[in-house]
Amino acid sequence: MITPNDFQRRYDAVIIGARAAGASTALLLARQGLRVLTVDRGRYGTDTLSTHALMRGGVLQLARWGVLPRVRDAGTPPVRRATFIYGDESISVPVKPKDGVDALYAPRRTVLDRLIVDAAVEAGADVAYGTRLVELQQDADGRVCGVTLAGDDGRPRRVATDTVIGADGLRSAVARLVNAEITHTGRWAAANVFGYWSGLPVDGYRWYYEPGMSVGTIPTNDGLTCVFASVPASRFAELFREDIHSGYDMVLRATGHDLVSGMAEAALIGSLHGFPGQIGFVRRSAGPGWALVGDAAYFKDPITAHGITDALIDAEGLANAVAAGTAQALTEYEERRNERALALFEITDRIASFEWTLDDARALHKQLAEEMAREVKTLNRMALEETTV
Ligand SMILES: Cc1cc2nc3c(=O)[nH]c(=O)nc-3n(C[C@H](O)[C@H](O)[C@H](O)COP(=O)(O)OP(=O)(O)OC[C@H]3O[C@@H](n4cnc5c(N)ncnc54)[C@H](O)[C@@H]3O)c2cc1C
Repeated sequence: MITPNDFQRRYDAVIIGARAAGASTALLLARQGLRVLTVDRGRYGTDTLSTHALMRGGVLQLARWGVLPRVRDAGTPPVRRATFIYGDESISVPVKPKDGVDALYAPRRTVLDRLIVDAAVEAGADVAYGTRLVELQQDADGRVCGVTLAGDDGRPRRVATDTVIGADGLRSAVARLVNAEITHTGRWAAANVFGYWSGLPVDGYRWYYEPGMSVGTIPTNDGLTCVFASVPASRFAELFREDIHSGYDMVLRATGHDLVSGMAEAALIGSLHGFPGQIGFVRRSAGPGWALVGDAAYFKDPITAHGITDALIDAEGLANAVAAGTAQALTEYEERRNERALALFEITDRIASFEWTLDDARALHKQLAEEMAREVKTLNRMALEETTV
């Protein structure tokens, strides 16, 4: 970890944002020998507004990068089963150990983001917290060629670079400053309220669906279970604004079935967290001297719990493109991302609509599972190419 006083004058890449997307991109670029600086206005090891269920593609990336053993060592419990509960019907799917993935995991962001940052620093990346992007520099042709950053002392510091990467989340400043066009927009958004419970052991991920509502359980670090309640964003104010606890309780009782009896004996640790919802979007993700990754590039509703997995997958596509060093490679990064992600984006949007019957929900989850299987196939192909180069 460094401070702004230690910045070099020039880096091959400067990344704004040091969480799932930014830290992973830094790790992969540094391992390819590039000089990379990653800054975040937040602090090392802090939490963010997000539940954290990883899908197989995300776990596979962590395994390929050697980070998964550290996730396990941090006491993250394995998830060996995903159960989908549609009204009275329950469908249980075991997580088969394969492709180097023994189970799924849902590390807290205080754990996951920190471990990826640690690996990036070990690989040689410079990482600075408490440092924000102030502005971008452009050369006479309009190509982005540097950044102005400010640390805690507020003093602006200029750093030159070949590529500025916006991994700065949903409300990306990089995307705004380069005017990154939105190429796809969703139609729906779901609100989400979640909290952490102790004394609530659950068997893996459990996803409950009732018309207009959904609830889920995510076992995580420190023996806690994250329990979320989700409804259409249009109902957020009515259900949660006055009294977040009673709204949360109501959704759990109406949807959580077997879960609520166990919750009577369990304790809520800390406060409930509310996310009012955000319609999904896909942005143009590369241009002269800049690129976007993670939520900055492509945000989909959290209802399919796939944002971190996407960030980990796209970080690799982007790192390879930046290392290749051509505009063509960056264009292909965006094209391949779209090829992989757009179907999942559409399915997520439909699930987030809550405009479905339980039969529709089942069918949408089947499509989602097919897309995720396709995603894992692509990652396995990439891993194979790596070992045969
Ligand atoms: C309620 C909710 C539940 C979710 N649940 C899941 C789930 O279960 N599973 C899943 O896979 N995904 C989930 N997601 C999605 C997931 O949180 C995101 O996809 C993921 O955080 C994207 O990572 P990121 O690195 O792109 O961005 P972020 O995690 O948003 O990180 C961006 C970083 O950029 C920094 N930054 C921003 N602006 C600046 C600036 N100007 N200068 C310096 N630094 C800056 C911020 O401080 C931040 O640390 C959920 C999201 C929400 C809202």
